[in-house]
Amino acid sequence: MLNELDNNMRLTSQRQVILEELRKVKSHPTATEVYDMVRKRLPRIGLGTVYRNLELLTEKNIIKKLEFGGEQKRFDGDTSSHYHIRCVECNRVEDIFIKRHKELDKNAASSCGYKILDHHVQFSGICSHCLPDA
Ligand SMILES: [Zn+2]
Ligand SMILES: [Zn+2]
Repeated sequence: MLNELDNNMRLTSQRQVILEELRKVKSHPTATEVYDMVRKRLPRIGLGTVYRNLELLTEKNIIKKLEFGGEQKRFDGDTSSHYHIRCVECNRVEDIFIKRHKELDKNAASSCGYKILDHHVQFSGICSHCLPDA
């Protein structure tokens, strides 16, 4: 019983560290990148543990998972409503804080008859670091 409790506590604090590290950055890291950050504080943690906890935190809507086709999944500690843009040259992913496009939901609803709950838009482009100097 005591062991089980110990084990639970350990899991909880690992998850807490993963969440704290993820929330520190705005880079939308992959699981491997989160693992590298967390390992500095928890040297014995495994990549599998980090991965499982990231999935669990996603299921509980505490963090967000971003999927860009053909790329490793990335994670976002900021669950507020915002859009993302990915640079096609260097693959960085940044936040775009613009108002949610309500017209899009309305147009979709009238075209398919669904009650729209959510939509996902991802922008791609070339970031200022990758644009050739004018
Ligand atoms: Zn770039
Ligand atoms: Zn974001």
